[in-house]
Amino acid sequence: MSETPSYKIFSKNFIITFILLFTSNFCYSQKDAVYDNYEVWDAHYHFINYIQEGNTIQDVLELMGDKVGRCTLFGLPLQQMWSYGNSGNEAPKYYLDTDAPLYYYSFTDAYTAMQYLSLTEEQKKRIDPMIIGFNPADMYAANHIKRVLQTFPGVFSGIGEFSIHKEFVSSKVAGEVASLLNPALDSIFSFCAETGLVSILHNDIDKPFPKSYTLSYVTDLTNVFRRHPDASIIWAHIGVGRIVNPLKDMAKVIRDMCEDPTLSHVNFDISWDEVAKYILKNDTSLQISANLINDYPDRFLYGSDNVASPDQKTFLSVYNLYQPLWDKLTPEAREKIKKGNYRRLFDNAKAKVREWEKANPK
Ligand SMILES: [Zn+2]
Repeated sequence: MSETPSYKIFSKNFIITFILLFTSNFCYSQKDAVYDNYEVWDAHYHFINYIQEGNTIQDVLELMGDKVGRCTLFGLPLQQMWSYGNSGNEAPKYYLDTDAPLYYYSFTDAYTAMQYLSLTEEQKKRIDPMIIGFNPADMYAANHIKRVLQTFPGVFSGIGEFSIHKEFVSSKVAGEVASLLNPALDSIFSFCAETGLVSILHNDIDKPFPKSYTLSYVTDLTNVFRRHPDASIIWAHIGVGRIVNPLKDMAKVIRDMCEDPTLSHVNFDISWDEVAKYILKNDTSLQISANLINDYPDRFLYGSDNVASPDQKTFLSVYNLYQPLWDKLTPEAREKIKKGNYRRLFDNAKAKVREWEKANPK
């Protein structure tokens, strides 16, 4: 009778454990090769500008280079009209170049889809196209989104960035003005909940120059969010803008939203250099922002909000601007805001939308 010496049992178990660990790590790194090799993913990028010009999809891949692993793909839902009566031979390139109106330009979705479809299967893994060419004040908006999904199955993961209240822009849009109180918005979010499409919504947190007697948009906005618990929503720029300042108790408002179980489907992107301006304003604002992200690491995403970047330096400028913020985050929060939350939300959306498309062919 010979007993197995304990060191042999130990070494056998050790080897099995080692093999298991090694193979699981190996599988992980194989599966997530794209995920691990890049610095950041961009959850908010406009490759086309207000006159529907800008990058090609190949330009976008070049901008991403070896720095940005994945990037959302959308232009702008609104086209700036060149009104001869308003600016004569001077062709406006930006919405502030003229008083002429903006109008919804639905062809943008077909253009985005065709650009995406020109990619190889490997390249497609790095791009997440979004539907934007709908009027959110139109009760038919959800029908447009559905039509785009069914015309281009296998392409889109989300909708947006679309806007309800947006400084300078909303009042320039031709036709009925968008509103948080319009049931058209509910039908859009209901359709997103049904299909799994993730949505990026721009809605200013407040009016540009709020008077003491006006209310911020927070109550109306959170009421809309609460009515659609199954919709995956990203609130762009946490509602601040060029002249829309953070609320006095901004950190508390966002903290309360993060704590509220009826808003657990709402996430926040910190895209735009105008947002960085508030976060990086001084040591206090930076620390308050870092504390918030460290406390709720699953809720925030990085985005550049660049429009048709001419080169990689411009494309990465907001990312580099945020270096003091990256330095103050825990390793977990840093990884999630740069990549992990994007991956969770968009991979989830993509899988659900593909299922919906299969079940609802044209
Ligand atoms: Zn944007």
